[in-house]
Amino acid sequence: MPGVFALPLRNRFRGITVREGMLLHGPAGWGEFGPFRDYDDPESLPWLAAAVEASRDGWPAPVRDSVEVNTTVPVVPPAHAHRLVTASACRTAKVKVADPRSSLADDCARVEAVRDALGPRGAIRVDANAAWDVDTAVVALGALDRAAGGLEYAEQPCPSVPELAELRRKVGVRIAADESIRRAEDPLHVAVAGAADVAVLKVAPLGGVRRALDVAEACGLPCVVSSAVDSSVGLAAGLALAGALPELDFACGLGTASLLTADVTSTPLSPVGGLLPVPHTAPEPDLFADHPAGAEATRWWHERLNRVRELGTTSPGDR
Ligand SMILES: [Mg+2]
Repeated sequence: MPGVFALPLRNRFRGITVREGMLLHGPAGWGEFGPFRDYDDPESLPWLAAAVEASRDGWPAPVRDSVEVNTTVPVVPPAHAHRLVTASACRTAKVKVADPRSSLADDCARVEAVRDALGPRGAIRVDANAAWDVDTAVVALGALDRAAGGLEYAEQPCPSVPELAELRRKVGVRIAADESIRRAEDPLHVAVAGAADVAVLKVAPLGGVRRALDVAEACGLPCVVSSAVDSSVGLAAGLALAGALPELDFACGLGTASLLTADVTSTPLSPVGGLLPVPHTAPEPDLFADHPAGAEATRWWHERLNRVRELGTTSPGDR
C-alpha cells in the first residue's frame, strides 16, 4: 500500500512550505513519487516511471561509490553565507542570486564571502532561476565573475533557450541549463541550440535513471545531477544516476536533505565531508509513519496516483 508523506521545508521553496509525496514499494525496494502539486497528470507521468523503476526494476550498476555534492547558499547576508559554507565542508558552493530582495551589489558581497570561506581552490556557481534578460545577465555575470575570482558556471541566467544561446555568445562564463530541462527532449534541444555548456539533470522529471542516462548520452553535454527537494528515498535515485554517469566533472546538487526539517528515514542521505555514497537501493523509510500527510492530502495523492497510472497504461509515452 503506497503511503503519503509531508515533510516541512526549512525555507519556502516554489511557494510551498511542506514537501509532499508518495513512497511506492516493490521487489527492488522503495521509490518516490512526488511531482509538485501544480504539475498536471501528463507532466507527472515520468515521475511515476522513475518511482516504478526504483521500486520494481532497481538501478543500473554504478561506476563510482561516492559523489561530491555542492552546498547551496540562499539569499542571506555575507557573514551568514560564510558560516554556511564553512559548516558544509563542501568544496563547491551554489549561490542563489537575482532574487528580488537582493541587489547585484548584495549578490556580489555574498559571492565574495563565499570565496573567502571556500579558499582559492573551491568552486562557485551562481543560480539566477531564470530571472534576467540577456542584457542584465551580461552585466550581472561580469560583476559576479569578478567577485568570485572566476565562476564555475551560471545556472539558468535567462528563461528561454534562445536567450541562453545569445548570452552564451556574449559572456565568458559557462552556462548551465536547469529550468530549460524538464522533459527528456529538452536537453537535446538545449545542446542543438548551443544554449548551454552544462545540463542539470533531475531523475524524476526525466522518467528514471536509465532514461536520464540516455538523455545525458544524447545531449553530449557535461551533466550535473540535482534533486527536486526529495526525501532521502528520492535522493537515492539521484545518487544512482550520478553514480552511473560515465563522466561526472562537477559536484552535484544532491546535498539537499537539510532543506527539509525531517526525513522519512533514520538513515538520511546527508553529506559528510562534501560527499554522499552511491546507494544500491533507497534507504528504508522507517520514519515514514512519523510524517503522514493529512486525510485530504492522502486522498488527493491516491487519486493522483490512480489517474497517472491509468494515463500510463493508455499513453504512448508510458514506459
Ligand atoms: Mg537551478
